[in-house]
Amino acid sequence: MNDETNLLSQLTGHWYNFLKKENVKFPTGEIKKNQLMCLLDYYPNAVSQETMDQWIRQRGGRNDRQARHLAWNGWYIQTGNKKSKRMEINPDLANDELRLVSFQIPNPVWQKYHQNQVETELKYPGFGKIIRKYKGRGCFMCGTKTLDLVPYSKLKDDTNEFDIVPLCEECCEWCITNEVVLQISDNLVARPFVSNRKENVERSISAKKAAKTRIFNKEKRSASAKIGAATRWRNSGKAKTACDHTIKVNSVKKKGGPKEGKWSIVIRGPKVSGESRKKTLYCEPSLVHVLDKLSSYLGHYEIVDPETGIPGILPNSESGE
Ligand SMILES: [Zn+2]
Repeated sequence: MNDETNLLSQLTGHWYNFLKKENVKFPTGEIKKNQLMCLLDYYPNAVSQETMDQWIRQRGGRNDRQARHLAWNGWYIQTGNKKSKRMEINPDLANDELRLVSFQIPNPVWQKYHQNQVETELKYPGFGKIIRKYKGRGCFMCGTKTLDLVPYSKLKDDTNEFDIVPLCEECCEWCITNEVVLQISDNLVARPFVSNRKENVERSISAKKAAKTRIFNKEKRSASAKIGAATRWRNSGKAKTACDHTIKVNSVKKKGGPKEGKWSIVIRGPKVSGESRKKTLYCEPSLVHVLDKLSSYLGHYEIVDPETGIPGILPNSESGE
């Protein structure tokens, strides 16, 4: 077995010589470094989550059992998990096993994804920026999180700042079939634009989607009734979600710590961990990063108040990239 210093210097060397130019990310955090060192130590064999955990703990390191995320930093690993969409599935591996395949070529699934992004960008300039900006938002219609978001451009003229919105393939197909024009609400939900001429098309919206829209509107109405149509959020600076969380974003005041210059996101409400019923996340000071953090913590969520959505509660007028 190799010692850690040796493994880390091997990793750094391989990355520098082969993977850096392919935009593979070298981990900055301890946990991902530990996981990569373990994968390299077992190379070219597979290693189970359990074994990796022991391997790391024996060396006094920390682990989060999320080594699969390395695949989306570009590292060429395979999994036995049949559900994986972000790396090759190797049928010889057990469900919880990962295997480092190469430290000279990047993860082909990851690479193909980025090539497709480049091609789509050529066809639909600006789409990549929208995807990056609303990373974690998923399909603008149904909220499904998928890597295969496709651009849809039949939008109502005065609809936000968008020319194109990302949709999942299913929603996009539905929109194309029904020649739907989408309207984007302030909280970034795409809905079919309702006009008399299109009434028939509107009626054919799948029951599920229509119901979802109705529930959302109902929640929105009841939330705004509670607040009494006042602009209390302007004073509180809090956003409220349909799932009953409140969200507040502040600039970190403390100077000189690792969080200096960052924003803190305080989430309160149901299923928020900790005795204080509150969760604080930290991110870079921009809208994109706030949306990203919220999606990874809350999953799909709808802001019902304020009307302006998250941009309306940010510490300053900063609105993303
Ligand atoms: Zn969708």
